[in-house]
Amino acid sequence: MPITAEQACAELNALLRNTALLSSCGNLLSWDEQTCMPPAGAEHRANQAALLAGLAHDWATAPRVGDLLDLLEAAVPAHDPDSPLAVTVREARREYDREIKRPRRLVEELSRLETLAQQAWIDARKQSDFAAFLPWLEQIVALKREEAQALFTGGVLYDALLDHFEPGMTSDALERLFSPLRAELVPLIAAIQDSPRQPDRTLLERDYPIDAQRAFATAAARKIGFNFEAGRLDEAAHPFCSDIGPGDTRLTTRYNARHFPGAFFGTLHEAGHGIYDQGLDAAAYGLPMGSAVSLGIHESQSRMWENFVGRSAAFWRHFYPLAQAAFPAALKNVIAADFHRAINEVRPSFIRVEADEATYNLHILLRFELERPLISGDLKPADVPAAWNAAFHRDFGMTPPDAAHGCLQDIHWSFGGIGYFPTYTLGNMYAAQFFATARQQLGDLDAQFARGEFTPLRTWLTENIHRRGKQFPAGRLVEIVTGAPLSHGPLMNHLRQKFAPLYDLS
Ligand code: ZN
Repeated sequence: MPITAEQACAELNALLRNTALLSSCGNLLSWDEQTCMPPAGAEHRANQAALLAGLAHDWATAPRVGDLLDLLEAAVPAHDPDSPLAVTVREARREYDREIKRPRRLVEELSRLETLAQQAWIDARKQSDFAAFLPWLEQIVALKREEAQALFTGGVLYDALLDHFEPGMTSDALERLFSPLRAELVPLIAAIQDSPRQPDRTLLERDYPIDAQRAFATAAARKIGFNFEAGRLDEAAHPFCSDIGPGDTRLTTRYNARHFPGAFFGTLHEAGHGIYDQGLDAAAYGLPMGSAVSLGIHESQSRMWENFVGRSAAFWRHFYPLAQAAFPAALKNVIAADFHRAINEVRPSFIRVEADEATYNLHILLRFELERPLISGDLKPADVPAAWNAAFHRDFGMTPPDAAHGCLQDIHWSFGGIGYFPTYTLGNMYAAQFFATARQQLGDLDAQFARGEFTPLRTWLTENIHRRGKQFPAGRLVEIVTGAPLSHGPLMNHLRQKFAPLYDLS
């Protein structure tokens, strides 16, 4: 007996929810792997992860899903493409078509390899031994190329991987966004370097007891709106935010008793991701309307709280007296203006995650430049260190002293995240554009921050971005919220307006 559209919709929703539930078990295992698991557990964890990934793949590619999509596509009213039903069908179709192109064997092999390669990468980075990681990188690149070929629909092979992280984005479009950004960033960074007025960063390298850092960062994350009744903050070597499901969002950070910014801004960053996840519509869990749009949009939320809010003078008008009370030995004789200048120091450095707001994007552009030939086959994994160092010298005027400060520094390639890096700079661009609009619509944001009021901005983000789930693709969402397509302009405006007074630029 044929079923009605309502029945088909209910059945599809149930299947999508189950797949999301199963995948979220994998997220919990992955969180455990990075926070608690003993190193010797890696092999067993790799088997668990591969089994779950294979099962989730089976469920996502069940022929019944395809049949229901066929049926619903005929029933979706064409006049309302943004309705929840139309969005579910559009996004579920996209996901289904992608998933059925990936053979289960490849899904399991990748999952196993990613767990083992991550452990190998941790050791290799510690020893700064690229040769030890090379065999793993070669396997990862080989499997990711195979995956890209399976998913390939024309154009550039790399785009098949990029599309997983930033749906609809292409390397040509990235090129058009990134080229003018680079052209304007390089002279700004040079002018900042040439300024005789440089901040004193040593005041951030004093005694910052870890217990006090934990309490201060937790209080700040709570103040900007991360709900600790529905989340927690733990430690990990490589900080991240993991959305386990409604009511359970996990943040991680890492502490250094002689360096304030790492854990504090890292926590604000991850809390920004967490606030996005906590702002999703729990009633639509597992469905496109209850899921994040893209990694780039996700990153825009973390960057906004970390940099646009957390590194602003207004934010510290509220928090600086609290910081002085929390870290009296380090800050009692430091005036707020000097602290603010120190946390906004622009200085070319080797490590991406420690980079300032301006040079950060050059780190990303470099990775984007290397990833494309890595996937096309024009760059061999063995040649990555030389290519990295040459590009780094060109962009930063210095050569990494070892692989740990160069091509071994990031975890991404070890977990197969090729195509992931561009979403970081996209996130900065989205953040700047959203923030400029929020400023126009919310009155005097600086005055609000100075009073410790962050609810208006958080509510605005939840209403305009979080609660919309995947209703609109990222590019359209930006146009709907800000009235203009994504461009590098708002980010450059933000950087110029911020750094000109700090560095006395004319
Ligand atoms: Zn992030």
